[in-house]
Amino acid sequence: GEALAVSARVAPLGSRLVLLLVEDLTEARRIEAVRRDFVANVSHELKTPVGALSLLSEAVMDASDDPEAVMRFAGRMQIEATRLTNLVQELIDLSRVQNDDPLEDAEPVRVDELVAEAIDRSRQPASTKQITMAAGGTADLHVWGHRGQLAAALGNLVENAVNYSPAHTRVGIAARRVTAPGGDLIEIAVTDQGIGIPDKDKERIFERFYRVDPARSRATGGTGLGLAIVKHVAASHGGEVTVWSTEGQGSTFTLRLPEAGTGRDRSSRSSHDH
Ligand code: ADP
Repeated sequence: GEALAVSARVAPLGSRLVLLLVEDLTEARRIEAVRRDFVANVSHELKTPVGALSLLSEAVMDASDDPEAVMRFAGRMQIEATRLTNLVQELIDLSRVQNDDPLEDAEPVRVDELVAEAIDRSRQPASTKQITMAAGGTADLHVWGHRGQLAAALGNLVENAVNYSPAHTRVGIAARRVTAPGGDLIEIAVTDQGIGIPDKDKERIFERFYRVDPARSRATGGTGLGLAIVKHVAASHGGEVTVWSTEGQGSTFTLRLPEAGTGRDRSSRSSHDH
């Protein structure tokens, strides 16, 4: 409300610079609000899986002479552990997006390393669901940006692809260079064969805490912050994230980022040299 009001007042002045500064400021405030809300919620969110793990481990001990029950409880413990891991990961991601200007720490980042890290992060839940992850086209590509933030962004997209897909499906990560007016871009697309996203929700999923199906999201440790983080990282790097999806068939999230060694990267380096 406040941000819109300010923009509306500034826009008629025709000063694009002022408008940009105002948007920057509100974006920083937005992320600050995400962090505050998250810290307020997180202790509660963490208690749930920890409590469940404690009860389940007791149940395992009580059921030691019933191997089938032990297996059932162990399976549920694995789900709770995944949930806990996801929540902690989300905390780490949020701490990574704290600095206001990620490009101060920008460097050329190898796309194959980012992709390997993202795949690694979802390896456990993927193998539990027997989801195959495969990457292609990443060789020799470099993006320009903050390594930790880029890893958080891509990690979230791959994590979602695995979380919102049924067993025995495939998650593909494809990278390529695309020519653009302001310097070449690197496009990284994460494709799944999962539940997809209804048209009416496509715009809103990038808002913080917005979830198509809160119960399902919560069951996997989702907080509704992942895509807000991805969008923030993309925007602060001068890139974007878009979604293409058919409900019931799958989704593709595409991250576009400036390539290292071209346009934007050179100009930002020389401006720092002065
Ligand atoms: P969450 O923690 O709930 O995963 P996100 O911000 O990462 O939060 O995503 C917001 C919502 O967008 C999710 O709750 C889910 O409904 C939807 N979503 C995100 N990624 C996918 C995907 N790959 N397939 C289907 N739905 C998705």
